[in-house]
Amino acid sequence: MTILIRGGQVIDPGRLNEVVDILIENGKVAAIGRNLPAPRGVTIIDAQSRLVLPGFVDLHVHFREPGFEYKETIQSGAAAAVAGGFTTVCCMPNTNPVNDNQAITEFMLDRAREAGLANVFPIGAITKGSEGKELAEIGDLRRAGCVAISDDGRPVMNSLVMRRAMEYALAFDVPVIDHCEDLHLTEGGCMNEGLVSTELGLPGIPAAAEDVMVARNVALAELTGARLHLAHISTEGSVRIVREAKSRAIKVTAEACPHHFTITEEVVRDYNTHAKVNPPLRTWKDVHAIKEGLRDGTIDAIATDHAPHAMQEKQQGFTDAPFGIVGLETAWSLTHALVDEGTLSLESAVEKLSSAPAKAFRLSKGTLRVGADADVVVADPQESWEVDPTKFRSKSRNTPFAGWKIKGRIKTTIVGGRVVFETSQAER
Ligand SMILES: [Zn+2]
Repeated sequence: MTILIRGGQVIDPGRLNEVVDILIENGKVAAIGRNLPAPRGVTIIDAQSRLVLPGFVDLHVHFREPGFEYKETIQSGAAAAVAGGFTTVCCMPNTNPVNDNQAITEFMLDRAREAGLANVFPIGAITKGSEGKELAEIGDLRRAGCVAISDDGRPVMNSLVMRRAMEYALAFDVPVIDHCEDLHLTEGGCMNEGLVSTELGLPGIPAAAEDVMVARNVALAELTGARLHLAHISTEGSVRIVREAKSRAIKVTAEACPHHFTITEEVVRDYNTHAKVNPPLRTWKDVHAIKEGLRDGTIDAIATDHAPHAMQEKQQGFTDAPFGIVGLETAWSLTHALVDEGTLSLESAVEKLSSAPAKAFRLSKGTLRVGADADVVVADPQESWEVDPTKFRSKSRNTPFAGWKIKGRIKTTIVGGRVVFETSQAER
């Protein structure tokens, strides 16, 4: 398939930001330039007044297969990904069974191949069953195709186990991702600890529960020299600790999620379980710190932590409902809002969704360089739309953004030179 994308504003962060054409041939970016000639039989995509961007890379999704297919499958998750402009996703291992061995990793890769939508990179577990006790076979996971290791959903509470994990990860050259949460401090908590939790009478999760684990992990990364990646940081304290660690050249990268830079604990006031997420929605002070961290480069990447749950699970009382928000289909618009308010330049917003996450995990993705895999997104920066969860490609609808009017729409998504999503589908 040969595709010519004509007349769009092409942004390849740090390299190119111009109105040019892109020619895609044999799954690769074949040429970039003004007024490229159209080869015979080419499919032409008119991108006038649109953005042409590297396909987004999400370092943090939960596709629930194997084990929880009623929430999401690799097929439905990948469909949600490409509808949101994500051409590459990294899948957390908290499936059932946990992805702590080669067989599960291979199963996930097979399912992704069958779906034929997004590039799916599994993340292997740090410990067997993600129980935090005995290390998984990290070398086997790496060889099978895992791009990082994590026990996400849970932290690695034992610092000695974490130290050993980092030592192995260094030897196999994979990043270690931690879900930073001190389980003793968070036990029983279901929302941010503060004024709102006190008023609602709900048990709180203090910001310190995240901060202490971020600090511990930074200390262990300094000790071992391993590459540390911090999932979904949500507090002012985390941002401060990561900023200091980076100033001392410790190998740490961090991600933040759209919900953590868009809304606060106030949204929980009506006991909306779609706003129940871990780490919890925090305060405006934290939101501002996350934005500042994105702006000054402390936070490398925007990741969704796409965490689907079935309606009946979220329809329980606030303390019983599971934690999690689906994020793939709203991330681009919520990130675009940071551009509109002046927090990020358009180019740096694109970077946080594409080249920067690719760099954090050393994936050869997130660029439109000639010769690169043709993973490309065509987006309309102006089009407004209303979030209607019933139209999600995801199997789940657990978003606190239902009914929001947001701006920025994905029009076409191309993976490996094939069109895998077009808006006409979205407007069904
Ligand atoms: Zn997590």
